Amino acid sequence: MPSPAATHEVLNQPFALADYNLFTGDAALREGVSREGADWASADLEAFGAKLGAADYLELGALANRYPPDFDTHDRYGRRVDLVRFHPAYHELMRVAIEHGLHASPWSEPREGAHVARAARFYMQTEVEAGHGCPITMTYAATPSLRLQPELAEPWLPKIHSRVYDPRNIPVAQKNGATIGMAMTEKQGGSDVRANTTRATPIGDGQYEITGHKFFVSAPMCDAFLVLAQVEGGLTCFLAPRWRPDGTKNGIEFIRLKRKMGNASNASSETEWRGALAARVGPEGRGVATIIEMVAMTRFDCMLASSAGMRRAVAEAIDHCRQRKAFGALLIDQPIMRDVLADLAIEAEASLALTLRMARALDHRGDANEDALVRLGTALGKYWICKRTPMHAYEAMECIGGSGVMEDSPMPRLYREAPVNAIWEGSGNVQCLDVLRAIQRTPATLEAYFREVSEARGGHRALDAHVAALKEDLRDTNDFEARARDLCDRLALGLEGSVVVRNSPGVVADAFCRSRLESRGAHHYGVLPRGVDGAAIVKRAAAR
Ligand SMILES: Cc1cc2nc3c(=O)[nH]c(=O)nc-3n(C[C@H](O)[C@H](O)[C@H](O)COP(=O)(O)OP(=O)(O)OC[C@H]3O[C@@H](n4cnc5c(N)ncnc54)[C@H](O)[C@@H]3O)c2cc1C
Repeated sequence: MPSPAATHEVLNQPFALADYNLFTGDAALREGVSREGADWASADLEAFGAKLGAADYLELGALANRYPPDFDTHDRYGRRVDLVRFHPAYHELMRVAIEHGLHASPWSEPREGAHVARAARFYMQTEVEAGHGCPITMTYAATPSLRLQPELAEPWLPKIHSRVYDPRNIPVAQKNGATIGMAMTEKQGGSDVRANTTRATPIGDGQYEITGHKFFVSAPMCDAFLVLAQVEGGLTCFLAPRWRPDGTKNGIEFIRLKRKMGNASNASSETEWRGALAARVGPEGRGVATIIEMVAMTRFDCMLASSAGMRRAVAEAIDHCRQRKAFGALLIDQPIMRDVLADLAIEAEASLALTLRMARALDHRGDANEDALVRLGTALGKYWICKRTPMHAYEAMECIGGSGVMEDSPMPRLYREAPVNAIWEGSGNVQCLDVLRAIQRTPATLEAYFREVSEARGGHRALDAHVAALKEDLRDTNDFEARARDLCDRLALGLEGSVVVRNSPGVVADAFCRSRLESRGAHHYGVLPRGVDGAAIVKRAAAR
């Protein structure tokens, strides 16, 4: 009953989704982890899922974005510091991520399923907050590139692999842990890094000084950056620390923080490079080949993070609709809404299933077939999953109605975050071109692809027909580039479909194949073929 002074009783308003377990409440995640080789991690993941689903932990994600970072170039006495200040919530998210090895565990503690287990943790952590994932991903992704230069790997990797989050703005030698960023993009070209004009001058002993400008450098508090610059031998990769070994500031000056439409907790900056001391990584002229090791891993994390965004959106939408009534019935029981929710759940499950399959391939890169699958599958997955996310976020927001648009809901954050993964680390067209390059230069990648999808042969007639038509169309290489998006869409759907048909419950697999491989025209979420058991799909995807 309202108090005498109250004007109304609050009726029919849901309680926020909180105090639930992000692991046990996610059937697709639990099954995927076990299937792809990390069953051994399930107990830890369950504990991690409980921690992350607690109301006060979920709140960290909101706070880190509500109070975005701010930046000082100099201290109060005029000394250059390039200091970004973050809300304590951001630091807490970073601390938890690093203590749980999201930045390094597959490298520091390799074992069967290590990438899968790490992927599951990163996925759950990203459901809470995506922005701090940027430095975590870059740090995780830097190890393969740094290993190409053993004399750099030797001092740096122990700091990078440390489970201590040490945010102090001091030389790395004095720190208990380090994070790594990347600086490739320049004003005249981001995708086309060969157009970089930043130059590196050798000063002896494999050391160089870098002069130029980098237009996007995220996570500027990282302890070092992998950076591309031109030398006589061509575009080359370098590692540039924030501080010089003698304890003076290195010549990397952060000019300002970017004002972004989303990704608010993550600082992204513009930087001047004034003779910044750097060490070469990989041979001169092989900059792209060297940093591509890092880029491949960041692309994998884009798949993972976008899948996580979808999962959070589905969980929120279903939880809302199971509590909210309209026109006398719960939204979840109303046929159109049920199919919208089911469709959103199918998308999220398929994205996660493909991502975890790629995580398993990462765990087996010694196997030539799995390695070839990583090459094509991560390029396709990065393109497809990241591109599917913005519309997914919006549709989930609509399920919640007006309250979903409000800033105190997580939905605006999910929505604004959604395009970012699609644009950085290889925008859509660039990913498509990369897929074509892989197919043309390394036919083994396409062979690995068809070997993988053929594992599902006979599982669903729509998938069989899809794969057969795709194979036929790929024989025709005329106008290949102009057809790239069509081919990549279909390649991605075929791969997702094959993973889903083999592993998801029949009701999900059948709905995926009929709605995505057989239907024609614009696919709005909620347009599912007749006879799909939407209620069963929604039940499977409900977080509680
Ligand atoms: C929030 C955020 C943080 C970032 N952080 C970093 C960072 O830490 N370090 C870093 O180095 N960079 C960073 N970037 C930069 C990002 O990687 C680039 O923006 C991205 O690579 C695209 O480059 P560009 O902006 O120069 O666009 P362009 O390269 O000009 O591309 C514009 C469009 O053209 C398309 N295109 C390009 N080539 C072709 C082609 N041949 N055919 C058809 N279409 C094509 C692209 O797909 C894209 O859609 C960040 C970006 C964002 C948004």
